[in-house]
Amino acid sequence: MRIWVGIDDTDSPEGMCTTYLGILCMEEIQKAGYEVIGFPRLIRLNPTIPFKTRGNGAVSFLVEAPDFEHVREIVDGVIQENSCLSHENTNPGVVFVRDEISILDYLTKFSLKAVKDVVSLDEAHFIIGKFMIPHLKYKKGRGLIGALAAVGYEDKDYTYEILAYRKPENFGKPRSYDKDTFFRADELYYPKIWDTVDWHNRIVVCVPNGPDPVLYGIRGSDFEAILKATEILETEEIDRKMMFITNQSTDAHIIDEREAKNVSNHHSYSLTGVVVEKPEVIRGGHVFFTISTGFGMIKCAAFEPTKQFRDIVMKLVRGDRIRVFGSVKKNTINLEKMEIIELVRSKEANPICPVCGKRMESSGKNQPFRCRRCGTKSTKKHLMPLKREIEEGFYEVPPCARRHLSKPLVRMEGIKKHVFR
Ligand SMILES: [Zn+2]
Repeated sequence: MRIWVGIDDTDSPEGMCTTYLGILCMEEIQKAGYEVIGFPRLIRLNPTIPFKTRGNGAVSFLVEAPDFEHVREIVDGVIQENSCLSHENTNPGVVFVRDEISILDYLTKFSLKAVKDVVSLDEAHFIIGKFMIPHLKYKKGRGLIGALAAVGYEDKDYTYEILAYRKPENFGKPRSYDKDTFFRADELYYPKIWDTVDWHNRIVVCVPNGPDPVLYGIRGSDFEAILKATEILETEEIDRKMMFITNQSTDAHIIDEREAKNVSNHHSYSLTGVVVEKPEVIRGGHVFFTISTGFGMIKCAAFEPTKQFRDIVMKLVRGDRIRVFGSVKKNTINLEKMEIIELVRSKEANPICPVCGKRMESSGKNQPFRCRRCGTKSTKKHLMPLKREIEEGFYEVPPCARRHLSKPLVRMEGIKKHVFR
């Protein structure tokens, strides 16, 4: 029979990674003589959930095996041995789902909710009960949510990421790699791969920091280009590599304003609005402004890590019509990208005196303008062209600030775009 295995919440800030644990499970399952079919999947869930694990990614893969029981035993052994069970916020969950349309269709709805919305552990338990899904639950078992979501996820848009892992003896040590080879890979294979490096900020963005086992991850739309790119990378010794099919870089988390009932925290949106006050930079380099939308006034933020994107935001003025994309936290939408729909191109100024050519002066609110030299009065305001240093189109945060789920502009066709690479 064909069984989907879904795994989540096995890592902690001190180490491990659910993708790595998924690979260990796949290897043990293959050693037992069963087949793993196709690429495993890496599904990123709602990035604004307060109790998420690092990156909020869950893993699933398809296995051909005679029954659930042995597969479950194997996975249990791998998790007991390798997950960060001692960490209080690590609450692994694993599900084993028959590859059957009736169950998977139901799970797909749950999965989309887990990516865009907030789901409870009770909802996960309800589904497990309803379909009598064999599962493994450790401690609070919060991982059951992501495990079910990773199995049920279905979308026409997807991308790939190959993850390369370090030798276990190197976990926790600084990563050793030749920076230039990553820039070279980007030069050769962009835009089939993206977010490998950030040229402007001179950072290799596909190499994480921290104690997890990942050495690098190359993202792209074409898995052959991804494989070729990895061949020219010079790094410390690699232990394992695995290609994942993923919902990264697809904007799967974004709720379009036409589908939104309201705008609330822990959700991500695309919203059109008009700038009502000029953006301001506060200490620390964070930029804030407010737009007027169909949902009321919405505060927008471009935080310091979004780097040169803030320079574009700072050039907005009152009256500019824009669309913003991002997650709402603390009643503020954190911008991932924006579309400038229409810029204000003129500003009101006091009129020129038709008699002597001098600029007229205001003589108080709701009073006509008045020429100081000859006394001529006028009520007509004068429109002056406003010089703008930005233009209409899409702008995005640079690769060093990209979130897993954000669709980079390089993936968007038929639009006027300003790519930060
Ligand atoms: Zn005059």
